[in-house]
Amino acid sequence: MNEKTLLQIAKDYGSPVYVYDAHKMEDQYNRLTAAFSKVNKLKINYAAKALTNISVLKFINKLGAGLDTVSIQEVRLGLHAGFVPEKIIYTPNGVSLEEIEEVAKLGVQINIDNLSILEQFGTKHPNTPVCIRINPHIMAGGNTNISVGHIDSKFGISIHQTPLLLRIVKNTKMTINGIHMHTGSDILDIGVFLYASEILFDVARQFEGLEFIDFGSGFKVPYKENDIETNIEELGEKLTERFHKFCKNYGKEVTLAFEPGKFIVSESGYFLTSVNAIKQTTSTVFAQIDTGFNHLIRPMLYGSQHAIENISNPNGKQRFYSVVGYICETDTFANNQRINEITEGDILAFKNAGAYCFMMASNYNSRFRPAEVLWYNNNAHLVRKREVFEDLTKNQILIDL
Ligand SMILES: *Cc1c(COP(=O)(O)O)cnc(C)c1O
Repeated sequence: MNEKTLLQIAKDYGSPVYVYDAHKMEDQYNRLTAAFSKVNKLKINYAAKALTNISVLKFINKLGAGLDTVSIQEVRLGLHAGFVPEKIIYTPNGVSLEEIEEVAKLGVQINIDNLSILEQFGTKHPNTPVCIRINPHIMAGGNTNISVGHIDSKFGISIHQTPLLLRIVKNTKMTINGIHMHTGSDILDIGVFLYASEILFDVARQFEGLEFIDFGSGFKVPYKENDIETNIEELGEKLTERFHKFCKNYGKEVTLAFEPGKFIVSESGYFLTSVNAIKQTTSTVFAQIDTGFNHLIRPMLYGSQHAIENISNPNGKQRFYSVVGYICETDTFANNQRINEITEGDILAFKNAGAYCFMMASNYNSRFRPAEVLWYNNNAHLVRKREVFEDLTKNQILIDL
């Protein structure tokens, strides 16, 4: 999307506003399927939690993808957006048996990552096919908050517990149709990922009647020029080779599944904000914008660095700014960063604002959550209204005092 289009959207829908380019999502989806084109049965389940707007879900359904969900509410949103239950997989962590049963009743594929729950579910529903989330204990993540493979992680069933896992399956006579892993975000080293996949194959071999193997996600996308990213094409080539070998030994062609979130939507997103004020202190020039960690918390939560461009002055001279929010706490988006000269009222665009951005927005400081716009077929479509004052009060009850 070009600057002119983004500026027009900020003008038409106000700021701050999230904008998503559907065509970029499509490109990423096609890139991933192309990288694994030699796999006959490939399934891409988009991880809904990255960006769950129902129009985005509808678009992704149209692309042919399935849906990866982590809560019954995400399952319901997926169904609402048009996904059939057979195309949804549910990979919760730490939820109740009751919720898992409720989702299974909807016809959605269940993925269980807890032996206690597995035993209870298998005892009650031996005929409902279940996928098992394995923890191969591989640290693939770039940040401890999103690395889920280490030994004390709460995610998955440890490979060291495979004997107990097999015993539970045998005792309950339950049906296991898939093996899954998701080692955490940001795969920087394909070798590490392939190593984890070998561990998963070893576990998979011990189960009969598998229909799929799910490698989760963690594809790293670039956040700035020349940034490291997962080489999907190389991964495709190398994993495909190993997968074919597995299927041959296993004696059956199973489905290869992935569940990318960030890879599909991160780069499609722009967060457009407006500069309220420029403030100089003894050491710093601040650009103070009309948002804060209430709308975009990744920089504060994960130290993520979203590139920021002044789209109101694309050819301006570059100067150093610290871009900060309006929240009454420290909320620094960028520290002493080169940005084209900023004037009050300019529109700053944050890049990579598609994944885990709007979804983590809150009403802190009693601000309204922003609008969302989907750019599709060369047109801007409002897909979520900006909140209004009534949204702040609608669930509250003013009591008589
Ligand atoms: C969050 C999540 C994903 C998506 O991860 P990305 O890094 O956004 O691709 C996939 N699978 C599971 C189980 C998840 O929890």
